[in-house]
Amino acid sequence: MALIVQKYGGTSVGSAERIKNVARRVAGTKDQGHDVVVVVSAMAGETDRLIGLASEVSGHPAGREYDVVLSTGEQVTIGLLALALQDLGYRAKSFTGHQIPILTDSVHSSARIRSIGEKRIRKELAEGTILVVAGFQGVDEEGDITTLGRGGSDTTAVALAAALKADLCEIYTDVEGIFTTDPAICPDARKLEKISYDEMLEMASLGAKVLQTRSVEFAKKYDVPLMVRSSFTEDDGTIVCKEDEEMEKAMVSGITYNKDEAKISVVRVPDRPGIAARLFRPLTEAGINIDMIVQNISHDGHTDLTFTVSKGDYRKALELVRSKASEVEAEDVIGDPDIAKISIVGAGMRSHAGVASRMFETFSREGINIQMISTSEIKISCVVDVKYTELAVRVLHEAFGLGREEVTEEPL
Ligand code: ADP
Ligand code: ASP
Ligand code: MG
Repeated sequence: MALIVQKYGGTSVGSAERIKNVARRVAGTKDQGHDVVVVVSAMAGETDRLIGLASEVSGHPAGREYDVVLSTGEQVTIGLLALALQDLGYRAKSFTGHQIPILTDSVHSSARIRSIGEKRIRKELAEGTILVVAGFQGVDEEGDITTLGRGGSDTTAVALAAALKADLCEIYTDVEGIFTTDPAICPDARKLEKISYDEMLEMASLGAKVLQTRSVEFAKKYDVPLMVRSSFTEDDGTIVCKEDEEMEKAMVSGITYNKDEAKISVVRVPDRPGIAARLFRPLTEAGINIDMIVQNISHDGHTDLTFTVSKGDYRKALELVRSKASEVEAEDVIGDPDIAKISIVGAGMRSHAGVASRMFETFSREGINIQMISTSEIKISCVVDVKYTELAVRVLHEAFGLGREEVTEEPL
């Protein structure tokens, strides 16, 4: 008998019929003699609908009340799934974040889980109950409702699995596992059998929304055995685990894209110590994260500085930098929200030379201009015009041989 945490995403619980399908799957796991804790998301499109409503009544929806609104989607699905399970003759109970409790910090809309109360869960499991827990939500020290950021139900599931030392955490979604790239934009994408925590961490943080980045961090930190699979088929999905010998062979395991960033360039900034600090300080103070930064070689005492921020922070960042730019005597500030960041990820890059040049040559052949580049040990990212996103992903996928059955070490 094992303890299994299963998470079902929005599409998997998108209608009454689908919730009944999930109930049958959960019941099947229980019938095999396992203890089951289920985490569910809101029905597909519901969180977006709630965000829309909040934006209709407020110019800047945020904070405590925003989370009160956003968290309601998951309260509906936990109740419905528990009802469906009871209908099949199983003992099932729904739990919101504060009933567990899932304690978080107070950073509304992107709260971090601090601890999870095990007592109630253990008691219910001992009584044979299937627990149905609301994903994406928690409660802070004050007793206020918090949410964990978009896609946060993945993190709820993995954190629960870590706290309970579960034998397996299964993430059920609308694709059959983790693919070499988003199957929605690349028909050639291939399902991976396994991927390392580190590669998945890069893929998630670079835009592969199949898992929330925080959930992979949790899985890695607490060694949670993780499987991503489809709620619509019986096929095995993708295992996310520690890196092994075999994985090292794949030079590039995946391609990701992120259309959620915008670029800001500060033109002809005086090239003196302290200028970058003055430009970026107001952004840090406003809680705006900067992703890529590029500074050019200086010419006659001046240089250009370009960086990216998330689209949500773009207007604010532009305003703050514009006000500082005149103070530091920069010539101009240019914003561009129509960009995409295309990245290639692979643990094998550590031991292969020439990956970057193959990426650049592929773009050059297609006439795709590279605006910015950044690298780390196991990834290379390029910023390009957003209109090239799909093309860029497909040509890289092909250039690195990812669509083929066998990805083996091949000469560059
Ligand atoms: P859920 O609602 O189940 O949490 P999401 O929409 O958050 O599902 O994540 C699943 C989606 O992630 C897929 O439908 C797919 O389009 C997208 N995706 C992006 N990159 C990848 C990838 N590398 N592998 C699999 N899916 C990916
Ligand atoms: N319902 C939330 C969202 O749409 C959380 C999740 O689906 O994981 O972001
Ligand atoms: Mg998701």
